[in-house]
Amino acid sequence: MDNWEEQIELNKMQGNELFSSCGNCTSRTRQKILVSVDVDGTCDAYPYRLGNLVLHGEVWTKNSYQIVQCGGCDFISRKTRKCAQWPTNMMIMR
Ligand SMILES: [Zn+2]
Repeated sequence: MDNWEEQIELNKMQGNELFSSCGNCTSRTRQKILVSVDVDGTCDAYPYRLGNLVLHGEVWTKNSYQIVQCGGCDFISRKTRKCAQWPTNMMIMR
């Protein structure tokens, strides 16, 4: 990948709480975020081949990793959320 840049932000969500299902007590509980890592990735010249066409444009990804503790049973687990988006302003290079 050309010009790939990543920005890592530590503990942006630390101390926040979220409602999620617990893998241990299997109920939906309030879970406290103990540690969080947010990774923003961008690339402004991502070549993507589609048949005879090569598309260039900006693409970004956003990955979140969290260590959470269940408010019901104190079980500690890891959560991962990933998303990626293709650009709207793609240029077509023949
Ligand atoms: Zn639990």
